[in-house]
Amino acid sequence: MRKLLLLLLCLAFTQAWAQVQSPKEFLGYELGERFTRHHRVMEYYQHVAANSSKVVLKEYGRTFEDRPLVYAIVTSEANHQNIETIRTDNLKRAGLQSGSPSTNIPIIWLSYNVHGNESVSMEASMATIYELVTNKTAWLDEGVVIMDPCINPDGRDRYANYYNQYGNKDYNPDPQSKEHNEVWPGGRANHYLFDLNRDWAWQTQIESQKRIAIYNQWMPQIHVDFHEQGVNSPYYMAPAAKPYHELITKWQYDFQVTIGKNNAKYFDQNGWLYFTKERFDLLYPSYGDTYPVYNGAIGMTYEQGGGGRGGLGVLTAEGDTLTLKDRIAHHHSNGVSTVEVTVANKAQVLQEYQKFFSNNVNSFPGKYKGFVIKGDNNPDKLTALANWLDAMGIAYGTGAAGKPLKGFNYQTQATESFNLTSSDLVVSNYQPRGVLASILFEPSTYVEDSNTYDITAWGVPYAKGLKAYAVSEKITPGTGKYSAPSAEVTSTDKAYAYIARWQTLEDAKFLAQLLKNKVKVRYAETPFSIGGKNYERGTLIITRRGNEQHASRFDGLVKGLAKEYGRSLDATTTGFVDSGKDFGSGDVHYIDAPKVAVLAGNGVSSLAFGETWHFFERQLDYPISVLDTDDFSRFDLSGYDVIIIQNGRYNGLGDGSMKMIDDWVRNGGRLILVQGALNSFADRDGYSLKRYADDDEKAALKKLKEKWDEADANVKYADRERNDIQGIIPGAIYKVSLDNTHPLAYGYGDSYFSLKTAESRFGKLSGAWNVAYIPSGAKPVSGFAGNRVQKELENSLVFGVDRMGGGQVIYMSDNPLFRAFWDNGKLLFANAVFFVGQ
Ligand SMILES: [Zn+2]
Repeated sequence: MRKLLLLLLCLAFTQAWAQVQSPKEFLGYELGERFTRHHRVMEYYQHVAANSSKVVLKEYGRTFEDRPLVYAIVTSEANHQNIETIRTDNLKRAGLQSGSPSTNIPIIWLSYNVHGNESVSMEASMATIYELVTNKTAWLDEGVVIMDPCINPDGRDRYANYYNQYGNKDYNPDPQSKEHNEVWPGGRANHYLFDLNRDWAWQTQIESQKRIAIYNQWMPQIHVDFHEQGVNSPYYMAPAAKPYHELITKWQYDFQVTIGKNNAKYFDQNGWLYFTKERFDLLYPSYGDTYPVYNGAIGMTYEQGGGGRGGLGVLTAEGDTLTLKDRIAHHHSNGVSTVEVTVANKAQVLQEYQKFFSNNVNSFPGKYKGFVIKGDNNPDKLTALANWLDAMGIAYGTGAAGKPLKGFNYQTQATESFNLTSSDLVVSNYQPRGVLASILFEPSTYVEDSNTYDITAWGVPYAKGLKAYAVSEKITPGTGKYSAPSAEVTSTDKAYAYIARWQTLEDAKFLAQLLKNKVKVRYAETPFSIGGKNYERGTLIITRRGNEQHASRFDGLVKGLAKEYGRSLDATTTGFVDSGKDFGSGDVHYIDAPKVAVLAGNGVSSLAFGETWHFFERQLDYPISVLDTDDFSRFDLSGYDVIIIQNGRYNGLGDGSMKMIDDWVRNGGRLILVQGALNSFADRDGYSLKRYADDDEKAALKKLKEKWDEADANVKYADRERNDIQGIIPGAIYKVSLDNTHPLAYGYGDSYFSLKTAESRFGKLSGAWNVAYIPSGAKPVSGFAGNRVQKELENSLVFGVDRMGGGQVIYMSDNPLFRAFWDNGKLLFANAVFFVGQ
């Protein structure tokens, strides 16, 4: 009787597991008939996990709009029972845990919909998980598949909602129909309009931070990032295009070819068009293919034609109708094929994977063997660096005091001798993540062919403003971890004033909180000393005078905020300084808490707007109004102190709106113009900004251009791309000298590394402040800039400040907030908001 009961139970059990519904059965429509919203896809994944012993679903975070981020672990029951061993065996193989692996199961990671409006991916993922757990179960004995159905749920739902609202009852393939034309800002990016496929390494966004934490627990052998491109493009798949980073191994290339051929087999059978080895390169380290590649995986981008213009069906240039069903079939086929070819080659996949890491640990192949970040950098910067290295799992330690070394000095671009100190932070490339570390820190990137898809320079010491050396000999870091000196608040019975230094974004966050709490703050225009300490320009002075409204709460409020934000405060009983200007001087400026607005909407680069929005809300934590360009002409600007016009095209703003801006500046407004926005104000009445500083410069550049035009006339057709790159700058770093006596540059030294990502040039200002400019003869210190661009950029403005009537105009021809990873530019932006013109 008991046996029978057991048998019945077993039968019931098997039956329960056998009820996985297809996407069609579950959703009530066939995949490709409509766009499935994110929560329904989550429900399908939950259904599969609840009804298949082969799937475990985990939530790893929430987006800014509170949508769940999940991943499904798809493998056989036996593997699930042993999953912790399989996972940790993989870390052992990578050298990230000690011990030898006892299993031989590869991990294949499939990431969908990093770009929200490349909307096919999440639909295809449902077809793929269903196929894997029903028809391909034999493969699941051999491998673990991790599926992230949607990296970017907020962007994906933005697209799906748009399409579901505007799609015709029966889809209309006419590409001009509204269903094929998303409105600004489109669904590609996340909530803050960041491109998550540029954020893998920088991890400025919550989605990236949460995902990398999970990724590092698994460290897959294979990673596929599913994308879409223009509707007329055939399918793109691995192997990737050149340029490759030189540290990518032969195996990492070869196995891409193996995978590509397996994928192509199914495409050939179906007669589907595809291409490989073009367009999508492997260089910039923050993509969903390169970041895994630099972490030892075969990282690949698969691109279907479609994207935001695809809808449920769209007419292509060749007169075919490309349907969502076609797009699903292609991504589905390649997802499944990638699993197939990986498990078929699993022994070699695992062996080569292990080799990648042991090579790094034992005989790191790159030119630089390690990096020394000096211990006398600002502690805020070192803390941020240490946290970031931890997030990526890059090991580091402290230096062996006194050890003499030679290295490339990032600040001077010269190879110099120096001594290690015990407070230095040392990164050795002889570690499992040595390739990743090396590529992130390298002073310049070797570019075989500069025809790349993205920026070619990112050197971390430049981006983060760190004194550092790249070293070509092996250095072994000590076991010490970096710990910042704790902030100190000196106390006195009744402080006349509190003094806080102005050196990093952390100081700006503190100021933002003081202002939000209605604490009156001043800044020093000249260096001063008091109580035996020296203070630089920009130092914050918080006097009791003026803060009477806080009465007895004043000291507690200021000290409490300093503690919360980790700031040191010096209390003083007098405003009489030993040198410099007393606290009541006109050179100690009162900071009026600015009311800030930024333009958004048509014409504005959604990325640049998003960077600004994110900067204020998530970094500074300071309020900002978002003004839509479509309604701009009817707004009252008088309530704003600072208006930011980010990168974009503003010819659509109209004369009336432009005149409103002119008048608002003349009445005391502070206008911050960034990158492309400068184009609309150059040579405009009242603004000092000009394309060329004077007629001589204009004539000289005109002559140069005539010479180039002549040369172009003799270029062969086949060489046209190579010829064109002389005129582009995909992203390169210039060292510029900084007038750090101007409030825009307070808190900085006398030079700054600026990331230049646009070709347009403006002349040095006359009758206004050139806070930073590119001198003649300058070349980028890192990254590619075409030789013609280099010529044109000589003597061009980088940062300038202009007075117009009672107001100020701040010109930033480079965007210090670019992708939120150029940390060293953020204080400059804070200076523009809080100091300039006050
Ligand atoms: Zn994409």
